[in-house]
Amino acid sequence: MAESESKVTASLDEVLADLSAYIEYQVEEEVGTEPISPEVLTALSRPENAFERTVPDAPLESAAVDSVTERTAQLAAIAREVAACTQCPLHRSRSKTVPGQGNPHPEIVFVGGGPLADDDESGVAFSGRAGLLLTRMIAAMGFAREDVFICNVVKCRPPENRAPAPQEMSLCLPFLKQQLNVLAPKAIVALGATALNGLVVLPEDQGITKVRGSWLRFEGVDVMPTFHPDDLLINAKMKKYVWEDLKSVLRKLGRPIPPVRKA
Ligand code: SF4
Repeated sequence: MAESESKVTASLDEVLADLSAYIEYQVEEEVGTEPISPEVLTALSRPENAFERTVPDAPLESAAVDSVTERTAQLAAIAREVAACTQCPLHRSRSKTVPGQGNPHPEIVFVGGGPLADDDESGVAFSGRAGLLLTRMIAAMGFAREDVFICNVVKCRPPENRAPAPQEMSLCLPFLKQQLNVLAPKAIVALGATALNGLVVLPEDQGITKVRGSWLRFEGVDVMPTFHPDDLLINAKMKKYVWEDLKSVLRKLGRPIPPVRKA
């Protein structure tokens, strides 16, 4: 197959994967309905297309390549430090460290509280069901998963998926700060109460339900707190609030808000 043909096929796969994720998210999120059959949705929802692009992006200018290469190397160095870390008790129960992954110079960094069981096995942040929903949320914003960076406050899975303790988060936080220093995002999306508590000290009566949708700051970067995808898997009605929060992020970035089809 000619190179140009290969590029066209890959682009179509990307478009179909993003379109499928977008449609499903809009329908589940209850902001609109689609006159589209489940069979078509299933055909479009090819998971092999949702997580990776088969053809690399066009070559960048040499200066940008240097920058990307340098950032990638710095992130890899942090990941190696994480892999060797035994600073808190979480290192005893981990299978793999989960430093986070994605674009080395993203507009947005998504931060959860800690790795879940699937992430502990794969070493990839948000790799299970919650991760699939996060991918759909990202697609609904008009991004691909590899356009953003995804990580957690703590890099090792707490046993039984419990929330990381404040001391564990505080011991691990320097890794996230180092990552943000390299990534230099325009915005952070804090996913869930644990991530929020790891990033920002709030008054006792202020939790994720009260502060979601309001801009906060961490390390000089704007932070939008919203619900964790796991919360949405339990209570789908929360999706409309998350979509409002993600639209605020798009407005902050000066990006267009994808159209919502009314029911
Ligand atoms: S959670 Fe963070 S601080 Fe604790 S062992 Fe893992 S990398 Fe180190």
